[in-house]
Amino acid sequence: MVQKIIVLGSTGSIGTQSLEVIDYFPQEFEILGMSAASNIDLLEKQLRRYRPQFVAVLDKRKAKELRQRIRDIHITNVLEGEDGIIELASLESSNIIIVALVGFSGLKPTLAAVRKGKKVAIANKEALVTGGELIMSEAKKNNSFLIPVDSEHSAIFQCLHAGKPEEVARIILTASGGPFRDFTEEELRWVTPSEALKHPNWEMGAKITIDSATLMNKGFEVLEASWLFQLPLEQIEVVIHPQSIIHSMVEFLDGSVIAQMGIPDMLLPIQYALTYPERWESRFPRLVFKEILNLDFLPPDKQKFACLELAYQAGRIGGTMPAVLNAANEVAVAKFLQKKISFVQIPELLDTVMSRHALSKSSSLEEIVQADEWAREEAAALSL
Ligand code: MG
Repeated sequence: MVQKIIVLGSTGSIGTQSLEVIDYFPQEFEILGMSAASNIDLLEKQLRRYRPQFVAVLDKRKAKELRQRIRDIHITNVLEGEDGIIELASLESSNIIIVALVGFSGLKPTLAAVRKGKKVAIANKEALVTGGELIMSEAKKNNSFLIPVDSEHSAIFQCLHAGKPEEVARIILTASGGPFRDFTEEELRWVTPSEALKHPNWEMGAKITIDSATLMNKGFEVLEASWLFQLPLEQIEVVIHPQSIIHSMVEFLDGSVIAQMGIPDMLLPIQYALTYPERWESRFPRLVFKEILNLDFLPPDKQKFACLELAYQAGRIGGTMPAVLNAANEVAVAKFLQKKISFVQIPELLDTVMSRHALSKSSSLEEIVQADEWAREEAAALSL
């Protein structure tokens, strides 16, 4: 049976790579729908190529423009706005939803897909960071299956097959350490957005590249792993592994450590998410063991990269705090890119906003959205 796929965020980094994977298997996969925030130039090209039945554009003005542009092709439904993307995520006729949206915008569509009992290939970690409890409980209730696309979580998911859930001792998430791994605290003060946007191993969008440089991305991955694999934070550890060859590891009760390895490339985890529970042959580049292959490991410097510890803190507090951390971080990253704050002020800003938050222990969608809005305003108004 052909699997009908919805790609939410088809013009982004994971979105375009998802289409690349789908291209390898035209007999097995079909694009039913795609969405973009505002890049309708690329979206139009994708529509002409894949001819999906449905499309959604977040920016309503751009949606109107797109309708004009594609009058000659037969796409009956150009949905618009946040509601349009949620509608796309809720379509009865789809089999797999790839959530490749950026930031908090991933939460509501993920929730909608989960409530429809779909297979959800999730690349957006902010949905689980902010609404993990809600998403996991709705997934259980509606028989939805969440499969990770993030390389670390795909690795963990693969390693977990080596034992039973109750046999897991801990998860070891690997981190490249980003471009500033070896910088001194003094050097970190002066790093520029363009330096932070150069990641040594991975090609990614701007938001996640900055998050990788601050280790906030790793912090979010800790929270994401805790929800996806239903493990307490104390059983999730982070280790710096500069080569990004081991994508993550699972240690079992007997001390055996299972690692998943590969070259740093998102195509493999994307393909595995789509083909699971099977593995299909791929033409992606492979590890070559005839060449010298060094694997180094070192502990993360929590002093220099305070964002990682802030994520653990927010996770331990729970309730709306992870949503506050995420929202403040989105604002802080934007401010850093606009050169309004320095690199080292990113964790300072997050810490201040978190300390001012009146916590709610509830994890309803309304409270999460409210906390998100509050934290954005607070972070925007804050001058350091
Ligand atoms: Mg990752």
